[in-house]
Amino acid sequence: MTDSTASNPVAGGPGLPQQRLLVTGIPGPRSQALLARRTAAVAAGVGTTLPVFIERAGGGVLVDVDGNSLIDFGSGIAVVSVGNAAEAVVSRVQDQLARFTHTCFMVTPYDGYVEVCEALNRLTPGDHEKRSALFNSGAEAVENAVKIARAHTRRQSVVVFDHAYHGRTNLTMALTAKNMPYKHSFGPFAPEIYRAPMSYPLRDGGLDGAEAARRAIDVIDKQVGADEVACVLIEPIQGEGGFVVPAPGFLPALAQWCRDNGAVFVADEIQTGFCRTGDWFACEHEGVVPDLVTTAKGIAGGLPLAGVTGRADIMDAPHVGGLGGTYGGNPLACAAALGAIETMESLDLRERARRIGAVMTERLTEMAGRYDVIGEVRGRGAMVAVELLRAGSHEPDAAVAAAVARACHAEGLVVLTCGTYGNVLRLLPPLVMPDHLLDEGLTVLDKAFAASS
Ligand SMILES: *Cc1c(COP(=O)(O)O)cnc(C)c1O
Repeated sequence: MTDSTASNPVAGGPGLPQQRLLVTGIPGPRSQALLARRTAAVAAGVGTTLPVFIERAGGGVLVDVDGNSLIDFGSGIAVVSVGNAAEAVVSRVQDQLARFTHTCFMVTPYDGYVEVCEALNRLTPGDHEKRSALFNSGAEAVENAVKIARAHTRRQSVVVFDHAYHGRTNLTMALTAKNMPYKHSFGPFAPEIYRAPMSYPLRDGGLDGAEAARRAIDVIDKQVGADEVACVLIEPIQGEGGFVVPAPGFLPALAQWCRDNGAVFVADEIQTGFCRTGDWFACEHEGVVPDLVTTAKGIAGGLPLAGVTGRADIMDAPHVGGLGGTYGGNPLACAAALGAIETMESLDLRERARRIGAVMTERLTEMAGRYDVIGEVRGRGAMVAVELLRAGSHEPDAAVAAAVARACHAEGLVVLTCGTYGNVLRLLPPLVMPDHLLDEGLTVLDKAFAASS
């Protein structure tokens, strides 16, 4: 990976310098003017992490309307893994845009949809016969995975986990664990959802994977009933819930329990998928082969697309016409996905994610030795988080997480927080981020810790 834009095929348009540059305060005057218009025009329930309005983006930077160039450790929540406006995404979308924009795949099909399904069937874990279906958002993919699992098993119960995040639609709100801000005042929620304890090594007294799985399976067996379970739905590494990495053995034991009991094992790889963790999909790390996989976020370089992929017999269970939607697998989004996948393959972004992860983990582990608030550094590949605790305890410190994030934003580094307790800083740089920006971003973060803790 080179540092110069000229030879970087994924720098988001020619001449976009890969640099951190602050020319005004954050947010600058133009962003503040737009923020006032936003407040008057946009519903208050739609939040904003950092109110700088973006004018251009690519590689590892976001450039705002005031001319500030910010280092991006968020990727629009793990979406632009191939960078913003990646060359192969832009050229394929432009070509598609000029040919046709929509027919509805359920009315008159087109090859891009089929090609994306072929790619998903090829890239997701397992070499069994697969089928895929495409949707618009992650939540829609999760909803459809549940529909497919129920149609296949003729059972109703869905098992999810503590700290889970699966979306904001009615069914996925019920699947999501955290009340505020995702569920508060929005009920009633869908029935037949059961929550099992997660493997969370920092917070479960150090249960190993097998023990944590036994604890979860005990809840499923005793409180739900094995022969009621349509599916067990889990993020292989939890995203919004705090980048919780289950202890080794937890996921394989759950997958085995599903096989033994005729339940569908669904991996929600919406945040972990498409090279983010250093593999195509996070389940590969332990050789887990899910029955169904949900994908979105990193799949299409920023265009809205989502998928459900899985065993042909399960995927083909719903009746003809039972799955679909007006825009699902839109031609532009499919073209973007093919460009994004091409980029991941040609630049070997799995290897790049592992390298980014090694750099981030080394720097953050060194910081953990100097800043008492850093309770744990965890994650995999380019999906790394630090959980912040009151010194010498397991008490979550959300205030310091917010303060560190604010300090980073003021210095032109976009970082996100997450976690059930709001005390986790998560780092999700684009996988095409040049090394010098990754290093500089980590130095900004180091200084933010020094100033805030
Ligand atoms: C973001 C996310 C979703 C929801 O995706 P949307 O596209 O926002 O609907 C579901 N599951 C996981 C694991 C996610 O990270």
